[in-house]
Amino acid sequence: MEPGGPSAWFRGTLFWNGKGQAVNRKKFKIKMELAMVKPVCVGAVLLGIFFFAAGRWAAALCMLLGSYLFEKSMYRCPACGRKLDMKYPLPAGSRCPFCGAQLRAKK
Ligand SMILES: [Zn+2]
Repeated sequence: MEPGGPSAWFRGTLFWNGKGQAVNRKKFKIKMELAMVKPVCVGAVLLGIFFFAAGRWAAALCMLLGSYLFEKSMYRCPACGRKLDMKYPLPAGSRCPFCGAQLRAKK
């Protein structure tokens, strides 16, 4: 093992990843509205059930797990970052129960 070699490479990768993720997350946040998270998750679950019915177990598991992880990471208050409960609907003009920030603008 080279002294400092792999660890320097690892640190460089981490730095690069952190930067890339931050940029991606910023773009994603603009694209993805909180109100859109739920329909996307439901769609992924339905697609998972469809794959399940078609006998594609691996694809079905991927869709179900993907939707679960997506919900877990995306369904958060954009202001304070606290996780919101997926069970509650998100009507227009609703506010974050923790910090009071408006989650969905009234139309
Ligand atoms: Zn909040």
